Amino acid sequence: MVRPVDTGTFWDRAAETMPREDLVQLQTSRIRACLQRLKSSGIHYYDRRLSDVEPEQLNSTDDLRRLPFMTKDDLREHYPFGLFLAPQERIVRIHASSGSTGKPTVVGYTRADLELWADTLARGLVAGGVSEKDTFQNAYGHGLFTGGLGFHDAASLVGAAVVPTSAGHTARQVMLMRDFGTTALGCTPSYALHVAEVAAAEGLDLHSLPIRAAFLGAEPMTERMEQEIEDRMGVAVYEQYGLSEIIGPGVASACGKSEGMHVWEDRFVPEVVDPESGERLPDGEVGELVLSAPTKEAFPVIRYRTRDLVRLIREPCPCGRTSARISKILGRTDDMLIVRGVNVFPSQIEHALLGVEGLEPHYQIVLGTRADRQDELRVRVEMSQRVAAASNLRADLEARVVETLRNVLDLTAAVELTSPNTIPRSEGKAIRVLDQRTRQER
Ligand code: ADP
Ligand code: ZN
Repeated sequence: MVRPVDTGTFWDRAAETMPREDLVQLQTSRIRACLQRLKSSGIHYYDRRLSDVEPEQLNSTDDLRRLPFMTKDDLREHYPFGLFLAPQERIVRIHASSGSTGKPTVVGYTRADLELWADTLARGLVAGGVSEKDTFQNAYGHGLFTGGLGFHDAASLVGAAVVPTSAGHTARQVMLMRDFGTTALGCTPSYALHVAEVAAAEGLDLHSLPIRAAFLGAEPMTERMEQEIEDRMGVAVYEQYGLSEIIGPGVASACGKSEGMHVWEDRFVPEVVDPESGERLPDGEVGELVLSAPTKEAFPVIRYRTRDLVRLIREPCPCGRTSARISKILGRTDDMLIVRGVNVFPSQIEHALLGVEGLEPHYQIVLGTRADRQDELRVRVEMSQRVAAASNLRADLEARVVETLRNVLDLTAAVELTSPNTIPRSEGKAIRVLDQRTRQER
């Protein structure tokens, strides 16, 4: 399915700039067709769930709200292949999520699904200026995780020279980046930061190398973290969003012209709902992102609850793409911490820390239980070399961090300033929160 790159701006101009009315009509007919397929799949789960649903009565994407949701638990209950619509002989790839909380969620792809996936992620790469002239170093983990192979196929499709380093071996990563003249990097934000740090430790100024763009995703990144990475690496960051249940990376991509990430809406239909009531929220309000992927063959999904908290942005974008954008992921419905009755999102802490002079962007949030059985919120954060070398600066820095966190969170956190390079670096998704509270306190 190799198509010429359209003047370096769009991968698929027709799809990316489709007039809104046409787009909504296309979404509606695709969802209708998908419902028909699900209803006649012979899969008990769909028979039961869609028994009252008449696909012909779906007249717009607004009517989606009448359809039931699908959740991660539904996938787990049908582990591993129970919800695949395509027979085994048509499946050509199987991926699975990390499964840190029980059985992994398993997703399957037909050949057409892989093409669809590469095609949507290619739009994101091209929006960030990737072409056949680029050398794309792919430091996402290659394996069951969708990051590595997803970016591999998309960057190959665009025609870049792909260097499949996978994550890890950071010193070698930096050496190859220099020797191969890498122009674009793909990895998680936390790993990008680590790559920058290792380069700096080796006396290599990334600003002097050809690398100019980084396609970062798979974990949250505040504005400030994005800025920090851009400054340290001398690149433009193009954020990427996706999840394996929908397809993998390539669900939404930044264009660099305005806030947020364009959802490739002809393929993935976004809604934002109240996480409690499940009611659709007006555009612009923060809620849980719900996505439908009606055109996948092996594993289409309708109204999948992502647990990711976002805002939908529908104002037209100066880049000319007509799709809705999602804001940065502001948190997850399951990562909100409740500390002494106060709601805290890790992203608020990151944002606050990155605004304090004298700290490095490496931190960990540790929850514990105090002697009085109350929750303790402890924030461990690295100080800069300069502060570490001058012990008289520490008390003042610590006080500033405590104060900044109190202003943002309305809570007093215990702050632990640690020496540079003491917080574990991540190669994939960083683990920022350690919950060590005793059971009954949760
Ligand atoms: P798992 O993390 O369960 O192994 P995935 O690899 O499919 O599964 O990860 C998908 C999740 O990763 C998303 O639901 C979201 O929480 C997170 N994610 C992906 N891209 C971003 C992003 N740009 N910003 C924040 N979180 C992201
Ligand atoms: Zn745009």
